[in-house]
Amino acid sequence: MGTERRGAGRGRGAGVAGATTHALWLDQLEPFTPRPALTGDTDCDVAIVGGGFSGLWTAYYLLGLDPTLRIQIIERHYCGYGASGRNGGWVVGELAGSFDGYAKRSSADEAMRQARALFATVDEVGRVVAAEGIDCGFAKGGNIRLARNTPQARRQREEIAHEHARGFTEAEMRLLEPDEARTYLNASRVESGIFFAPCASVDPARLTRGLAEVVERGGVAIAEGTTVEAIEPGTVRTDRGVVRAEAIVQATEAYSRDLAGERRALLPVYSLMIATEPLSPEIFAEIGLADRPTFADDRHMVIYGQRTDDDRLAFGGRGVPYLFGSRIAREAELHEPSHELIRETLGDLLPAIADVEITHRWGGVLGIPRDWVPGLRFDRGAGIGVLGGYVGEGVAAANLAGRTMADLVVGQNTDRTSLPWVGVHARRWEPEPLRWLGVRSSRRILAAADDREFATDREASLAFRVSRLLRGA
Ligand SMILES: Cc1cc2nc3c(=O)[nH]c(=O)nc-3n(C[C@H](O)[C@H](O)[C@H](O)COP(=O)(O)OP(=O)(O)OC[C@H]3O[C@@H](n4cnc5c(N)ncnc54)[C@H](O)[C@@H]3O)c2cc1C
Repeated sequence: MGTERRGAGRGRGAGVAGATTHALWLDQLEPFTPRPALTGDTDCDVAIVGGGFSGLWTAYYLLGLDPTLRIQIIERHYCGYGASGRNGGWVVGELAGSFDGYAKRSSADEAMRQARALFATVDEVGRVVAAEGIDCGFAKGGNIRLARNTPQARRQREEIAHEHARGFTEAEMRLLEPDEARTYLNASRVESGIFFAPCASVDPARLTRGLAEVVERGGVAIAEGTTVEAIEPGTVRTDRGVVRAEAIVQATEAYSRDLAGERRALLPVYSLMIATEPLSPEIFAEIGLADRPTFADDRHMVIYGQRTDDDRLAFGGRGVPYLFGSRIAREAELHEPSHELIRETLGDLLPAIADVEITHRWGGVLGIPRDWVPGLRFDRGAGIGVLGGYVGEGVAAANLAGRTMADLVVGQNTDRTSLPWVGVHARRWEPEPLRWLGVRSSRRILAAADDREFATDREASLAFRVSRLLRGA
């Protein structure tokens, strides 16, 4: 794949069929050989299962708290294999769980403290990236979310009024008139926009890879190609031997369903992405994204995009439905009709690039807890901690969760360990076929609602209620 800047190739009617089926970010990494697997039984102070952002950030902050700790990361494939190496690269200071959900567990002030802790986390990621010299294209350009029909615009006005009444400031989030919104992203049919400041773009695979190298240099042992089969107090059973540890941290997100007894803990849901060829300066002069804000519109079925540091657009959405029995399958991640739909959605959003070449298409799985309220917990008696379940907003959240998990593991009380998301433990998902029926039908309602709102410009109120219900609002 060359870096020649084309992007003006109108009329090629490019589909996704010719795109390589690898995540852009992983494809662009220097070729690498996975680290060696475990070679038998071993002892350590802290065993971390999973080498994504959750596991790596936990290791990073543990090292900072106590560099003498013997930390062992155990990863089934390679660090960054999961959602962490394949996501949209939004380092977004936002949690999928609703403000009210956290306020109910504590108070409105505490929910505000939780929200602002996430805002500050975007800068913390930027700080570490700079301090450790991790070259991952981190750029804090905020997030622009457009309203592209009347119901979306009405919801944006209400949302901003509501958030400001709660105490969020104009500097943190503000409503934009169409002309100003278009200066961020000159999309079709813009009726308004919300600019949300605490958000950065990043290449997630380079960040994951860089972090793994940093913790390894700090003395953390990383075994790749090693599958954990069960976690019990003091013991991690793998296909390569037993790891005995005083504390164990489970950071397996959507893949938790493979661990003994965890099948219904988190719902694995697919999100699919495409990437364009590098686009020309002329194209960016037309479409905007000068400061690389991440971008979306306000439809119910989430879409998300970023301008990469090599001037492509990486763009995704939730296309493939949930698979019966929480199955995770590579063929679902490469579902071509869903990728085609995502390409059409991007072309509709930005007609100026409707015909550019799509070079990559891929997908991954994210984990959704039953109540859609992400959180983390550490059972001191059992010495087992669990983090994850970020519902597709885990890049920044995993940093705060990992930092907090490190505090909990060493037994240190901090401002973080008293945040309302600490101790959250969602109930299990329903057994099948209820799970499948519920998830598929809510998805169908939301997708139909988007179509209806775009076609009629009128609010699909059932979907609005379903959407709020799903977000716990
Ligand atoms: C396509 C896509 C786009 C997304 N876009 C964004 C975005 O733009 N911004 C955002 O904030 N969030 C986004 N997300 C969500 C975000 O990527 C995740 O929330 C986050 O990466 C989760 O990190 P994690 O470390 O908890 O899990 P993962 O990155 O999934 O890591 C879990 C790791 O555990 C390993 N593992 C699992 N089971 C075992 C086992 N039994 N034994 C050993 N190892 C095991 C896996 O191999 C994996 O490497 C997106 C997700 C997807 C799929």
